[in-house]
Amino acid sequence: MEKLINKYLKKLGEQGLSDEDKAVLLGLDGEMVSNKPLTGDYLELSKVFDLMDINSLLFAEPSEPYKSIIETLVRNEKIKLVPIDCETRTFLHDIPVVEELTAKSIASALSHRKSMIIRNRGIVTYGTVTPEQAFISFSSTCFSTFVKYFIDALMYLEDCRIHNKKPDTRFIEDFMYINKLIQGSKLFTHRTSRITLLKGPPEDEDTVYRMLSQTGREVVRHNLVDSYFGNISFVIGDKIYISQTGSSMDELEGCVDTVPLDGSSSAGITASSELSAHKGIYSKTGKRAILHGHPKFSVIMSMHCLREGCDRALCYKSCKYERDVLGVPVVSGEIGTGPAGLVHTVPPAMKKGKGVIVYGHGVFTAGDDDFIEPFNLLRNIEDICRREYFKRVIELYNVFQNPSIFC
Ligand SMILES: [Zn+2]
Ligand SMILES: [Zn+2]
Repeated sequence: MEKLINKYLKKLGEQGLSDEDKAVLLGLDGEMVSNKPLTGDYLELSKVFDLMDINSLLFAEPSEPYKSIIETLVRNEKIKLVPIDCETRTFLHDIPVVEELTAKSIASALSHRKSMIIRNRGIVTYGTVTPEQAFISFSSTCFSTFVKYFIDALMYLEDCRIHNKKPDTRFIEDFMYINKLIQGSKLFTHRTSRITLLKGPPEDEDTVYRMLSQTGREVVRHNLVDSYFGNISFVIGDKIYISQTGSSMDELEGCVDTVPLDGSSSAGITASSELSAHKGIYSKTGKRAILHGHPKFSVIMSMHCLREGCDRALCYKSCKYERDVLGVPVVSGEIGTGPAGLVHTVPPAMKKGKGVIVYGHGVFTAGDDDFIEPFNLLRNIEDICRREYFKRVIELYNVFQNPSIFC
């Protein structure tokens, strides 16, 4: 348990989610283990274990920019945050906000949700089997609140334009402050760094495994996915090699399934929930190296639907309009194989060869023999979306005096 606690505290730091010394992770494994002495607030946290059937509890102040983003979001929200991205929809549902750190308030909020916010203090998450679950929920909360803040800000400015009203001064101050923070954060540190990915085509199975693990690690390192939510595959002969569902993109060793393309075996039960979409992309485009991540500004721009008659909370499954961000198609589609599933929308749109953004969800890219092209496409799409985002913000609020402050 101690080892796991240290591992996930370290990951919080590495991924820019929280400083190790601002996080406390408690684990129950026969006895209670924690990285901090259990006194004061931390003693109160340990009492949550008496109220819930859990084996780990994480309480941490998020790193910037997440800290300021969350503080800004909860300023006007008394009870809960309701982001409408795919991770929230399928995983977090919503994020309760409470005022005080007490075992009772934490247990009550977490009895029906994976994550909660204590106002101006931090995020609390838990695991029932392993501290890894607490880490995943924490990471997803940072992602969802980031996306919510930036899409809400853009839509607010759009609204100001439509109604010809001046944006609120407090809003502008917060926005400028948060933008300064993201420039200095780890989020974009690796954005232009050089990477060396294995060149294809792979000669044997071993090389395929190495390509998948190596690319997965780079996608996480470049902040193009919060580690547990992407997937990756490669086709050789009549088989597809695909990351398992719930596996961490930066730790894919031993977490790759081999599944016959013709569906002739039951292998693949543990394969990524997007197996069908990957197979569909291969059959429609012939591209063998397929990559899926959740880069933040791509998700944000995908939700920038201004069409009349559209309910943005429903566009993820049924947006009535074809859209694109500088030529990169945006499609709707739910996870899985249902009638509104992205399995039906992504593969045909991939034929344009530019990758595809799924509304409120993430990006699919593909290449022929290795992951160099899909990785670069993913990174470029995120860059395009980030630039388009700030271009639009500046257009909407042209009284910003110094547009160069934006990323
Ligand atoms: Zn996804
Ligand atoms: Zn729409």
